[in-house]
Amino acid sequence: MNPWIAKAIVLAATGVMMAIRGPHGQRSRSVKVAKSHKTPLETGLLAFAWVGFFVPLIWVASPAFWFAEYTLRIGPLVAGVMCFVIGLWLFYRSHADLGTNWSITLEVREGHRLITQGVYRWVRHPMYSALALYSVGQALVIPNWVAGLSNLVAFTVLLALRIGAEERMMAQQFGNEYAVYTARTKRLIPRVW
Ligand code: SAH
Repeated sequence: MNPWIAKAIVLAATGVMMAIRGPHGQRSRSVKVAKSHKTPLETGLLAFAWVGFFVPLIWVASPAFWFAEYTLRIGPLVAGVMCFVIGLWLFYRSHADLGTNWSITLEVREGHRLITQGVYRWVRHPMYSALALYSVGQALVIPNWVAGLSNLVAFTVLLALRIGAEERMMAQQFGNEYAVYTARTKRLIPRVW
């Protein structure tokens, strides 16, 4: 199959993702940070995640990764589009449920509330589940070993090094309320992990 189909899908998914995130990024600037837990490691992880996010766009726009190309097949393409659709829906829902409590990094906002409703009823990190699905979608849709795996690698590293610190921050902030929430929910996959 012509890789242009994959390129069009990747561009569309990136556009939808940015359209969902955009207004929250804007709004978060007007909500004061009460306590920042941003470490140098966090800064490095975010930069790495941005690289992972941009590499597929370089693949769309240029022949830079020609050496890692392989043949696009219909099965992985369809599975990848399904991951994109579910992932982007969950990305939208988790932003809507988190509202002004959202931050790109580890921060407690003024008037921060613990959200346990909506998609946060199923898992503690639905936005990360959404980004994981999105990254798997890219790995399936992009017929290129470098561009296809870049987001998955970057996001896996971010997740592995951030999720524990984020939960410690939330436990420190919300105490028993977070302990009760943790006891009845899993991290990324309902009932599994
Ligand atoms: N890990 C969550 C949120 C990602 S955004 C998810 O995957 O859905 C990261 C910020 O959201 C953190 O800095 C923290 O301030 C905030 N946060 C995380 N879980 C939250 C919750 N259940 N309620 C309110 N804020 C939360």
